[in-house]
Amino acid sequence: MYRLIFPLLISLSLAVLPVCGPGSEPLETPDSNLDYYGSTPPVNYLLGDFSPASHPLFVRLDRVNIPTGGRTIYLRKETADALGRMYAAFQKDHPDVEFWITSGTRNFRAQRGIWEAKWNGSRKVGGQKLNETIADPEQRALKILEYSSMPGTSRHHWGTDFDVNKLTNGYYKSGPGKILYDWMVANGGRYGFCQPYTAGRTSGYFEERWHWTYLPLARRFTKDWQRMVADRYPAGKNFAGSKGAGDLAPIYVESINPACQ
Ligand SMILES: [Zn+2]
Repeated sequence: MYRLIFPLLISLSLAVLPVCGPGSEPLETPDSNLDYYGSTPPVNYLLGDFSPASHPLFVRLDRVNIPTGGRTIYLRKETADALGRMYAAFQKDHPDVEFWITSGTRNFRAQRGIWEAKWNGSRKVGGQKLNETIADPEQRALKILEYSSMPGTSRHHWGTDFDVNKLTNGYYKSGPGKILYDWMVANGGRYGFCQPYTAGRTSGYFEERWHWTYLPLARRFTKDWQRMVADRYPAGKNFAGSKGAGDLAPIYVESINPACQ
């Protein structure tokens, strides 16, 4: 009987594992032991209204031997510690496959720069200058929101989220990109990492195979954003299109892979 029941239990428990992969057993989040915000007021932190370069809870990745392709990139120390452990394990399994961090913490000002460049046409979106092709503010925002956040709503504000290697889904469908992606899906959860923008969701940003989040901190920041920021967004911090499109913000913060919630 035991021989029959035991494999059944194993297969049942595998069936309910989260999307992040078989290595993603739920992590205990020791809320009371973590300093989530330091001396930055939580609402300012959640909106990205601070400088990671001068925030004592952040670290520069090249100083902790995480490759950045020469870029200056900051993450929370806890995120960088876990990322360093994951990178070492990946290198051990795949010494010939390149791994680097392309983007980490971006504050409100940096995200506003990206958003407004797309809004006013100085950066093309899908080959178009959106200021010329989409007049309606909400429709223009929805186009940008396929892949870019409104300032004040990006998970990149929190020091928990980063982009690896290349920012196209196609890169992760063959060759070294596929090796890296498959490995992260299988093993990232062991280190606390999860892909928030998976395929198959019905709202929010499009699939991003390059974007990963550190759950032990980000779970709390997601909840705090919904509790403290959603009702007041954009909280007086205006940017191009914020009046016409600001109401869309909570949908994009909430529409993540259920395994990352
Ligand atoms: Zn990203």
